[in-house]
Amino acid sequence: MNKVYICFPGGKHKALTMSYDDGREADRRLVDIFNRNGIKGTFHLNSGLFDDLRRVRPEEVRTLYEGHEVACHTVTHPTIARCPLPAVAREVLDDRVALEALTGRPVRGLSYPNGSLSPEIEAMLPACGIRYSRVVETTGGFALPENPYRWQGTCHHNHRLMELGEQFLALNKRQYLYLMYVWGHSYEFDNQGNWDLIEDFCRMMSGKDDIWYCTNIEFIDYMDDARRLRFAADNSFVSNPNAADCYISVNDQAPVCIPGGGFVRL
Ligand SMILES: [Zn+2]
Repeated sequence: MNKVYICFPGGKHKALTMSYDDGREADRRLVDIFNRNGIKGTFHLNSGLFDDLRRVRPEEVRTLYEGHEVACHTVTHPTIARCPLPAVAREVLDDRVALEALTGRPVRGLSYPNGSLSPEIEAMLPACGIRYSRVVETTGGFALPENPYRWQGTCHHNHRLMELGEQFLALNKRQYLYLMYVWGHSYEFDNQGNWDLIEDFCRMMSGKDDIWYCTNIEFIDYMDDARRLRFAADNSFVSNPNAADCYISVNDQAPVCIPGGGFVRL
């Protein structure tokens, strides 16, 4: 029987994604660093706080974050575990409505404001059209998230970023899928005067053939697509019911692309 492994797009086995909260003006400089290095990220915005002059302007959201993901961070950034549940639903749904009006795209990601969550909130999010939500705790590792509604990153950028980046670059066991996920706030680079850190990190991670550079939702969507692949019981063929292409390896040979809507004999 064929040995089939799911791969990331292009047959890669490592993915890097970035996640930055609050939509402050320092995002402009951060996006520029990401763009110069081909790094992709997700920006979690509070649609009710654009009046704060330290934030990006609503009219620049679509162009500034082009190529990255705009995601929810609730309308007003409350500590939602303390709020009535219907109010939390409105904080999420109204944020989606406002951000979708600005971007013209479906907005399906969330990061918990103040890291606040509860089992009841987590259970409600799928019905609000949210597919993942990031917490503030981190793992220090490169495993794929088991529960996307309690998505723990690898590290905050102030915690061993370069060391973890070097570890990630050195990973070469192709029998595993690895994810490096970095989170933070762009204004922290201003406050701590350490823009060099993220410049150095992005330059070090840039342009690697074995890394898929993705937004948070691109990662989730791809893995959801991969789970929907329909394999023969003996792995002799596969059909792809998704619109997007998926990649697998077969018997450790060169990656095979299963085209969206396609059927491939293996
Ligand atoms: Zn925040």
